[in-house]
Amino acid sequence: MHYKRVMVVGLGLIGGSIARVIRRRFGADVYVMGVDVDLASVQFALESGIVDEGSVSIGGMSVAPDVVWVCTPISVVAQTVVAVANAYPSVSVISDVASVKSAINVSREALGGVLYVPGHPMAGTEKSGILNSDADIVEGATYMLSLQSDVRYEGFRDMLVSLGFRVVEMDEATHDRVVAAVSHVPYVMACLTVGNAQSQPESLQELVGQLKSSGYRDTTRVAGSDPSWGVEVCVHNREAVMAQLVAVRDALTAVIGYVDASDEEALLAYLRGVCAYRVG
Ligand code: NAP
Repeated sequence: MHYKRVMVVGLGLIGGSIARVIRRRFGADVYVMGVDVDLASVQFALESGIVDEGSVSIGGMSVAPDVVWVCTPISVVAQTVVAVANAYPSVSVISDVASVKSAINVSREALGGVLYVPGHPMAGTEKSGILNSDADIVEGATYMLSLQSDVRYEGFRDMLVSLGFRVVEMDEATHDRVVAAVSHVPYVMACLTVGNAQSQPESLQELVGQLKSSGYRDTTRVAGSDPSWGVEVCVHNREAVMAQLVAVRDALTAVIGYVDASDEEALLAYLRGVCAYRVG
């Protein structure tokens, strides 16, 4: 590990979990600093040894970091990256973990030569906040990085590998399209499934509660995610999410037609194709 001082801005589920992985892997060899708008999160991080130094202010550290992770909500990532670069012009790399990439418009001119590397660890839970953070949530996860032609990028990528992440490099638009298919649209569909159960008559709700079992739980777990996260990914990844929701609507219309017509052959062909893709 060639970085000696790291900083995490946004001590929530992902920021706290990344700080914990660094601590687990490198112990006291790396000085970990943490920033959050919520003083209680900073205090918790300090008291539980997740960070060595904490502040509610980005510029409030006693030493400059070598590398910084911005783990804030998506809507404030770009401004936070710029604020970090202005506060610590000597920092090597600033990266982020936001679940969408194309919509984060960081002005490279405003960074004064600091390298910004868009990234996204493909891990998480439906919970939020540092109290729910855990190294196990992110350790060993696939980690999307936006490939850059810069030796500082290579240093950051190597550090992620040394932390146990499986780095996959791609451009932002590709990331957003694929993540819409495997995360954002599935979240919406899980919500629709819950909404369907919720819309059953009041007289049936007790039975709905009694009969829902592992299948319902498996397909709807992510519907318990923080709704503000759901709004953020749909709005900030609007283009990819919209295109795929329209495709899902078309597929649903076709399935409705098969069911309505009791077209067993067509329904079976569709379900077999989906099942083979899921299993295979
Ligand atoms: P979270 O648990 O709510 O953590 C975000 C933290 O950032 C909170 O402690 C929040 O404080 C703090 N914060 C808000 N504005 C800030 C600011 N301007 N400066 C410093 N700290 C600020 O959310 P999360 O799930 O960790 O998500 C954080 C990022 O990770 C998002 O960009 C998300 O897209 C990405 N991500 C999430 C997952 C997932 O499964 N959750 C997976 C991969 C990537 P308050 O709570 O007081 O506002």
